[in-house]
Amino acid sequence: MPETQPEIGKHHKVIIIGSGPAGFTAALYTARSDLFPIIFEGTQPGGQLMITTEVENYPGFENGIMGPELIDVMRKQSQRFGAKSLYKTIIKADLSQNPFQLVADDGSEYTCDALIIATGASARLLGIESESKYMGHGVSACATCDGFFFKEQRVVVVGGGDTAIEEAVYLTKYASEVTVIHRRDQLRASKIIQEKAFNNSKIKFEYDSVVDEIVGKEKNGSLSVTEVKLKNVKTGKIKDFPCEGVFMAIGHHPNTDIFKNQLDVDEIGYIITKKTSTETNIPGVFACGDAQDSLYRQAVTAAGSGCMAAIDAEKFLGIPK
Ligand code: NAP
Repeated sequence: MPETQPEIGKHHKVIIIGSGPAGFTAALYTARSDLFPIIFEGTQPGGQLMITTEVENYPGFENGIMGPELIDVMRKQSQRFGAKSLYKTIIKADLSQNPFQLVADDGSEYTCDALIIATGASARLLGIESESKYMGHGVSACATCDGFFFKEQRVVVVGGGDTAIEEAVYLTKYASEVTVIHRRDQLRASKIIQEKAFNNSKIKFEYDSVVDEIVGKEKNGSLSVTEVKLKNVKTGKIKDFPCEGVFMAIGHHPNTDIFKNQLDVDEIGYIITKKTSTETNIPGVFACGDAQDSLYRQAVTAAGSGCMAAIDAEKFLGIPK
């Protein structure tokens, strides 16, 4: 992240909020249409790909590419055509009139004729008290960020989807033992990803189980995890399960809170867009990527919808195709 922000004015034709594949693709397309887009990169510049290791399913990279590298290339590609990144987070949006009004976390204000929302999604957590107590002290929501700290230790991964199983496999690089805690007796993860885990002797499974509590200790003012209390959802029995690390991988929620009372969202908070477009209920406001996609949630589908949002915004602004 650069120390200085580019000099930019207050009003812009297009502002993009969010800097994952959706945001940068929207930036690339709108920049190539001479709309000089501004991208607010937000609290996690680059989005979820920044906390991923190898991405093997993004087309065009025969041998895969590291998530952060893919983001870096996308950012540079959009900048080549005039897109500008600001390392600020938009904390308030007034979409009641056009130009739309935005306020950033440093208090600066911006307006735009067309707004592209590409704010993505964030990791979901269990919501138990001990989880927040030990977050960053044995509890993590990102195996690729924190796995390194659990060399030769026992860790658990909570969840049964693709993320949980991929993270479990990844963690075997460091941990002595990885146990997947899943609330049902069948994994949700795709078969090909499951196979990788089943073929890895370091990975064990605790089915029909949920984490009831995370237990730890405090030594010299520093907290660490010592075990989790696992509850069997069928029998109700609680058992102590010793471990030093707890990785949450139970899905994500869309980062759409600041738009909720203005844009139509579903019961979880995903922005509702019109069929076969990225148009929201407010003309001139477009949504793409994981902020509006609860189904596919892939880097490539996010990029595709970022392209759609750019084209929809260009059409709205009267740019001929
Ligand atoms: P997900 O598919 O929604 O899976 C979430 C998992 O967490 C599920 O197994 C769910 O259990 C469990 N869970 C949810 N809430 C829970 C709670 N409160 N307590 C305990 N367990 C809970 O999320 P994801 O694994 O992050 O994947 C998201 C999307 O990204 C998916 O479409 C996935 O295919 C995709 N993805 C793809 C790849 C890849 O292709 N390489 C890698 C990662 C992710 P239930 O099964 O009982 O609902």
